[in-house]
Parts: sequence; structure tokens; C-alpha cells
Amino acid sequence: MCGIVGYLGKKDGIKSVLLGLKELEYRGYDSAGIAAIDIEGILIDKKVGRVSKLEKSLKKSSNKYSLAIGHTRWATHGKPTEANAHPHFNTSKNIFVVHNGIIENYQEIKDLLIKNGYKFESETDTEVVPHLIDYYYNKTNNLEKAFELTIKDLQGAYAIEMISTLSPRNIYIARLGSPLVIGNKNKEYFIASDPTAIIEQTNKVRFLEDYDIAIVSDKGLKVKNLRSNKDSKSNFELLEYVSEESSLGKFPNFMLKEIHDIPKTIETALKGRINVSKGTVKLGGLDSVIKQLEHIDRIIIIACGTSYYAGLVGEYLIEEIAGIPTEVQLASEFKYRNEPISRSTVVIAVSQSGETADTIAALKKVEEYGVLRLGVVNSIGSSIARMTDAGVYCHAGAEKAVASTKAFVAQTTVLALIALRLSKSKGLLNKKVIKELDKLPKLVEEILDSSDKIKTVANKYKNNKDFLYIGRGYNYPSALEGALKLKEISYIHAEGYAAGEMKHGPLALIDESFPTMAIATDSRLLDKVKSNIEEIKARKGPIITISTKGNRNISKLSDDNIFIPSTIEQLQPILVCVSLHLFSYYVAEGLGRDVDKPRNLAKSVTVE
Ligand code: GLU
Repeated sequence: MCGIVGYLGKKDGIKSVLLGLKELEYRGYDSAGIAAIDIEGILIDKKVGRVSKLEKSLKKSSNKYSLAIGHTRWATHGKPTEANAHPHFNTSKNIFVVHNGIIENYQEIKDLLIKNGYKFESETDTEVVPHLIDYYYNKTNNLEKAFELTIKDLQGAYAIEMISTLSPRNIYIARLGSPLVIGNKNKEYFIASDPTAIIEQTNKVRFLEDYDIAIVSDKGLKVKNLRSNKDSKSNFELLEYVSEESSLGKFPNFMLKEIHDIPKTIETALKGRINVSKGTVKLGGLDSVIKQLEHIDRIIIIACGTSYYAGLVGEYLIEEIAGIPTEVQLASEFKYRNEPISRSTVVIAVSQSGETADTIAALKKVEEYGVLRLGVVNSIGSSIARMTDAGVYCHAGAEKAVASTKAFVAQTTVLALIALRLSKSKGLLNKKVIKELDKLPKLVEEILDSSDKIKTVANKYKNNKDFLYIGRGYNYPSALEGALKLKEISYIHAEGYAAGEMKHGPLALIDESFPTMAIATDSRLLDKVKSNIEEIKARKGPIITISTKGNRNISKLSDDNIFIPSTIEQLQPILVCVSLHLFSYYVAEGLGRDVDKPRNLAKSVTVE
């Protein structure tokens, strides 16, 4: 969600900041802006829309500013307009601020400032920050102090950068609940809300923690933690980073590219972790806590959005394979519940970015219970990866399309591995699952090869206004995920339901104009799903089925059918979801949607 970038050095700060902003574009945003200071003067530019628009406008200036901050905004308070875009500044235009997150007590601060004669030009919560710094500066005549006092007054979540002509070789930074990382290379410093924005420039980084405030200057980095009131070490670490193909290659957009990355994604998630002939699983990330894991009797998986659905598949897998009672909870709900949690519970946080604010808040809540906290995250070095006791990386590589595809598959694969690792038995089912996991990349290739067929079906149904997705057992989560993906990128209303629930309500919706995507793959529950399909057909609802290759009985039942290759039902969600992702993709493409950046959505949701 939105992004922050900064540069301090001797080189072209505008170039560096634009580079960073472009890398952060995938997170979703509606406007972009920059502020820069140099002996030549001050530069402020903001544009509604893409970073390329800002870049074009900045080309007019020939100066190279050696101190700059930049921002991509995902509006929370006030519409996406130029006035609301960041940076925001004080009336004297000598203090400039960019901010990610939400200042929850902004109205209170704004009222106080207005009483003191301050005037506001935007509808944002952020604008209180430069004015409050100004207010404290007038009282203390010390910018560092004014910044600190301001940060102490803020409630909510923030990653903040401030620059000022009052101290033109410093960047002031603060973090609470929204990620920030500082990179260093010789005498240059790079700041960003995500390491991907600076990794091309340096892999020597220092992550800020909550309540940290920092000053970056030509003298180096100074970090202080406001909670402990102590200076923190400003040691940099070398980020392990595998540079990867970030260009689209032959693909028109990242979503399609990422769906086509899936066979490789699964291979990478399994690499060095499974031994097919021995039927064993090794997860180095869990080694340090394996003794503790032997004594657990409950697992709570916390996640949001697509990760939540991967978690639901994980629930079925862990319960069946490892025999441990498991439940999945939406992080945004979990954190406000008052449920009893014993110390023999393990909490597993699933998040692509590792920065999801709701999931982080849920993890913080269980800190006081003293339970073991595990992470299943994709982004190396992210907040969740750092705050959990142990975990397993998804290794899906950067996912840039807002709608998650390959990361979902990687999460599901990793949860299957966790289920196997936690299992005390090395029985037949375990062996079968490992063997089938190993085959998955090839089976996904087969689905990708049948893209044309999926596209034809998608084009036939793309003008429908509503969709129902139904499935049972392992494919109930697939139905939920399929519906979410269609909503996200095509803006068609879609609902996912457990097929058995149809008669308890949704059947009332069915008529000729309300199609159902029924997941009817070969499984223990296939006959039940068949009956549910018949019930819909009896009410004239059009039916598309997803069925197992070779099972002609199902395709005879439906108006249109998409085959998936045969695999065990425990792993079917992966194959079903690849087909459903492609189906949503082609519907959205057919409707001319911006598939990589769907309206109103952001990639990494760093606000609660
Ligand atoms: N709450 C701020 C605004 O609406 C910042 C949003 C963001 O994180 O981009 O301007």
C-alpha cells in the first residue's frame, strides 16, 4: 500500500527517488509526489495518477537535488487530488513531510493547530504533521526536538519522512506499524518502505522497528527508540537478495506473467524441502522450534484476503495430515476477540508482503500469551518475518500484480509442507502427498497449456453481473478464492459458498442470468457436489464446472467445463485455483480492466 522513498548523498536524488517510486508502483496508489532540497532551492511536484506523469513533469527541471523524498499515496483521508497528494508542508514552506498510514488523532491535533492560527490546504490526516512540527519548532527552536515531540503526539500507524530547509542535509524518519528500511552505500543513503525499492542501489540495509525515530545525515545514521528512550544501534545488515527477472518479458502484464511463474514457484517452494523416495519433509526454518512444536494441541492461522483462503486450505491439510485441531481467523477480527488461548497453541501468520497491518496487529496481540508465533511470508526480511519466532519462506519471488496468484500457490504449498512436518506419522497419506506435490509443477503446466479453452469460457460469461462459486471439502476454500479473484480484477459481483449451503439461502438467487462455477473434481464428495449442481440446473442456473480430466460425467452435466489434471483431493485447490485465476484474468482482460492495478486496491495493506 502506497510507498515512501528518500535519498541523501551527492548524486541525483530525483533520479534515485523516481527509481524507488517506480519499484513501489505495484503496491497500488493513486497519486505521487516529491520534495527536494539543494543549494539551488526547493522543488515540490505532485501529480494525480502514475509515477510516469510525475517523471515527465520533473524532466523540466535540470537541477540535481542531492536530498529528496518521494511518495505514492493510497488515499485514506480525502480524495486522490493534487492538494491531497504528498508531500505536505507548513505555511512557510520550509518543512516537507511524506507519510504512509493513518494518523488516528489527526482531528484533535488539527483543532488545536487551527486554534493557534494554522491553515490547512488538504483534507488529509497527514497535513497535521508538518504544521505540528512547525508549531513545536516555534516553541523550541530545535528541529530535531520538534520532530520528536510531534511523533510522540501521533496515534495510529505511520512511516514518516521529513526534510526541511532549516536543516538541509538531514532526513528525519519515524516508524510505527508501517515499514521503513534505510539503505547505505558509501556516503549515500536510501530510504524506502520496502527493500525492493532500493535493492538495485544497495543491499546494505537497516530496518527500523516500531517507535524508532532516525536521522540520516552526511555524518551517518542515528536511531533512537522512543519507547525505550535509548539510542539504538545503527548497524546495517546485508540483505540476502536474489535478483530476479522483474520485466514482463513476453507477457502483457504482471498478473499473467505471475500465473505463468507458478510451476517454477512450486518447484522453488519445494526445493531441498521434500525427499520423495524417503517420503520426508525438511523445513530448516522450523528446526529451532521443533521441540516446542511436539507439544502443541491447537493451531490458529491468521491472515487476510487471499492468504486467508490459503490458510483455509492449510486448515484442512494440517487437520487431516498432522491431526492437530486448526482454525483460520481473519486477522482484523482476531485481534479484537477475547478468546482464551493456551500456551500450547501455535499462531501461524500468513502474509505475502509480511507487512499486512492487521496480521501484524494480531501477532502483537498474542505476544502477551507467550505462544509460539510462526510466519509463512514471501518477503524476506519483512516485519512479520522479523517478529515471529520461526517460519517458512514462500520463495515465490516478487509478486507485483495486486491480485495474488503465485504467492497464494506458494503459501498453500508451504502449508502442506508444514502439515507434513508436524505429522507424527509417516504413513501412506504423507507419502502420497509428497509424491503428488512433486508432480504439481508439470500439472500446472498442463493447465497453462489449456489457457485458450479457459479464455473462450471467460469470454462467454464476461458480461454477467453476478457469479456464484461453489465447492466442498478442500475445494470450499477454492470457491472462496475464485470468487474473490473475480471481484478484485473484473469488478463483477461474485460469492463463494460451500456447495452444501446452497439450499440454506443462495439458491434463491439462481435464475437464467446467474451463473455458477461449480468445482466438481474427483473426490470423496463428488456425488454430493453433483446433487448440488442438479439443484441449480433445476432452477435454470447456467453451470460451468471444473472437473478432473477424463471424467466425462461432469462435463455432461454442465453448460461449459474446464478440465484440470488428476491429483489427490488434498492438493486439488492448487490446480483448481490456477484455473480460476486464469478464468478471472481472461474475464477482466475481456472487459478491458487494468488487471495489475485494480481500482481502489493496494498490494501490501499496511493500514488497519
Ligand atoms: N492517510 C494519508 C492520506 O490519506 C496517507 C495515505 C497513504 O498511506 O498513502 O493522505
